[in-house]
Parts: sequence; structure tokens; C-alpha cells
Amino acid sequence: MIAKIKCPKCGVEGSFSLLESSYQGSYRCWKCRALFTIRLENNELKSCEPLSQEEFDRQQEIDALKAKFKQHG
Ligand SMILES: [Zn+2]
Repeated sequence: MIAKIKCPKCGVEGSFSLLESSYQGSYRCWKCRALFTIRLENNELKSCEPLSQEEFDRQQEIDALKAKFKQHG
């Protein structure tokens, strides 16, 4: 599933592949490299907030941990 996300900073549209129709997490614009926390519901962008590099790194760590826990089920 591919969701289209328009970057609030530079206005460029990017595509984001989803495993489910809902998603909450980080997104990086391919053009201006701006980071955002996005929330998608039923393939629709519900919220998009600027994210700092520090917060992004932290989010990545959390996602990695989640993936780890999932593997061990
Ligand atoms: Zn952008």
C-alpha cells in the first residue's frame, strides 16, 4: 500500500509504503530532508508535525526495539 505525503516544508509529494492502512511514526522528505512525525489513518494523512534529528534518532531506536520484540514474539 502506498500513501502520498506532501511535505509541509517544501510542498513536494513523496510516496510512503505502508504495511497497514494506519501508521504513526517518522517520515523524511526525500527532497528537503525535513523530518516529520506523521499519523495516517485509512491511507489519509491525519497529522504531520516537525521532528528534530534527535527525536528522529530516538524514534528509530524505539522502532528497532519494537521490531526486536516482534521477532521474539
Ligand atoms: Zn520537503
